[in-house]
Amino acid sequence: MKSIYYTTFMILTVLLSGCNSGEKKTTDSTNNDNEKFAKLSEQFIEALWKLNPGWASSQGYHKYDSVLVVNDEGHRKEEIAFCERFSDSLKKIDQKSLSPNNQTDYFLIENQLNSAKWYTTTFKSWEWNPSDYNISSQFDNILEGTYAPLDERMKNIGIKLLKVDAYYKAGMANIKNPTIVHTNLGIKQNKGAISVLESIEDSLTKCGLKSEEKDAIKKNIAAAKKSVNSYVDFLEKDVLPKLDEKTARSFRIGKDLFEAKFKYDIVSQYPAEEIYKRALQRKGEIQHEMMKLTRQLWNEQMGKEAMPVDSLQAVRKMIDKLSLKHVHRDSLLTAIKKQMPELTDFINKKNLIYLDPKKPLVVRETPVYQQGVAGAGIDAPGPYDKEANTYYNVTPLTNYTAEKAESYLREYNWYLMQILNIHEAIPGHYTQLIYSNQSPSLVKSILGNGAMVEGWAVYSERMMLEEGYGNNDPAMWLFYYKWHLRSVCNTILDYSIHTLNMSKEDALHLLIDEAFQQKAEAEEKYNRVSLTQVQLCSYFTGFTEIYDLRNEIRKKEGDKFNLKKFHEKFLSYGSAPVKYIRELMLKDETAGGEKK
Ligand code: ZN
Ligand code: ZN
Repeated sequence: MKSIYYTTFMILTVLLSGCNSGEKKTTDSTNNDNEKFAKLSEQFIEALWKLNPGWASSQGYHKYDSVLVVNDEGHRKEEIAFCERFSDSLKKIDQKSLSPNNQTDYFLIENQLNSAKWYTTTFKSWEWNPSDYNISSQFDNILEGTYAPLDERMKNIGIKLLKVDAYYKAGMANIKNPTIVHTNLGIKQNKGAISVLESIEDSLTKCGLKSEEKDAIKKNIAAAKKSVNSYVDFLEKDVLPKLDEKTARSFRIGKDLFEAKFKYDIVSQYPAEEIYKRALQRKGEIQHEMMKLTRQLWNEQMGKEAMPVDSLQAVRKMIDKLSLKHVHRDSLLTAIKKQMPELTDFINKKNLIYLDPKKPLVVRETPVYQQGVAGAGIDAPGPYDKEANTYYNVTPLTNYTAEKAESYLREYNWYLMQILNIHEAIPGHYTQLIYSNQSPSLVKSILGNGAMVEGWAVYSERMMLEEGYGNNDPAMWLFYYKWHLRSVCNTILDYSIHTLNMSKEDALHLLIDEAFQQKAEAEEKYNRVSLTQVQLCSYFTGFTEIYDLRNEIRKKEGDKFNLKKFHEKFLSYGSAPVKYIRELMLKDETAGGEKK
């Protein structure tokens, strides 16, 4: 479950469903603008897919499956022209006259256009990140797809393969002063690309194409393998030996780029620096609370054993002790299944949010082909496949040694497992998804805001405990804080590594000694933060904004405030950035309770 956060984020940015909901029509002019906007967003999506066929296939849109985009000067010019053309068209629509659903879509499109332009002209990872060039997922999405017969998919793959050479040649021409870590990643991942080409070869033998057709595709596969290998050779022999720790570009992107990327990726009302400061403060508060709980639990759990003087050490001891309470390795799935109706009952009894009883979540064993890392997470259908089921995948521990299983079960012990279920399922990701599907727009499905989605899940953990879930058991609160401290420290780590030159040693100290993580988990996190930027801030930023908004509305509404109504209203805007939901909710008199 190490990579739960990461994987769910990836899945959840890709979900929800299509079709436009009926907009409230008021006057003719707003009616007109809403219609104009609906047309524009349709054109925008079609143009977006044409420019990004790989992204399109990953979302279940297959019109451009045979196209492989070569990132050369011409392509980048085309991309900028696309951004400018649609920005101009957006400006011709009066955003204020649109329905709330369209207003948030308007902002999402506007942000996507500004963001794409910034990535191409300013961030320029196409110059310094060799792992930007990798054909694997683009071919894999088509090969593994079930949307069309294998023969048809093979034909598209055959055409797409013809561009592989130009694709990697453009990569070699683009790369200038890359970072060492991204060069190593590019080498490693492109070595993996060979195995994708091998699976294409395997599938070719099983398909029903004529033998001349098969031979032609076979030739293209051989040529593509050569292109991948020469890219790997180029990185290994020409690029990497010339890179020096002291003179090569640093993987730390610096404050300016970090703030800008934060603005485009997270879309928060706060700058990154403000969120970082809030996280620092929060870390201290959480540690203080954990200490209090440890003191409260000590005698009952530890008997006569003396409490360590160092308070962080005392907390660590308590965590280790309580972690021994966990389910048996064979009953993980059963335990999670059993939890779902319990969570539902609690929410209904406390009147926290309406849960649609017609849409139960399907808890199942993770399908074998997805069982890479152990874990549990929501697997939701893409925007063009909305009839499909949503699953809560739980990977069994069958292949684990006794020792590994035990360590995993202690990490996801009795208490933490419940918090995880709240986060992933009810009322976290799964509940948000159902609401999101009711205010659907293709734009929100495709460009949905990750910080809002993760923020809601993180918010729901806190809300449930505040409402008495777990009977205010201090042990439950202790693990809640440990889990929450992880999002808080993700933010501190991300910001400090990229803008404050934090050392690896200090990073590991933060995660291990101050946030009670295992060494392996901390090392993995350090690795991730040196390869990515900003994404680790999304959980805490989204949470902070939602929590602030709730308090703001509660204050405004006084004793008229109704938590259930607040939740339902908040989720009714779909997966839009909290910043925009906030503006719309504060304008709405009835956002948090009855009409005054
Ligand atoms: Zn045990
Ligand atoms: Zn999540």
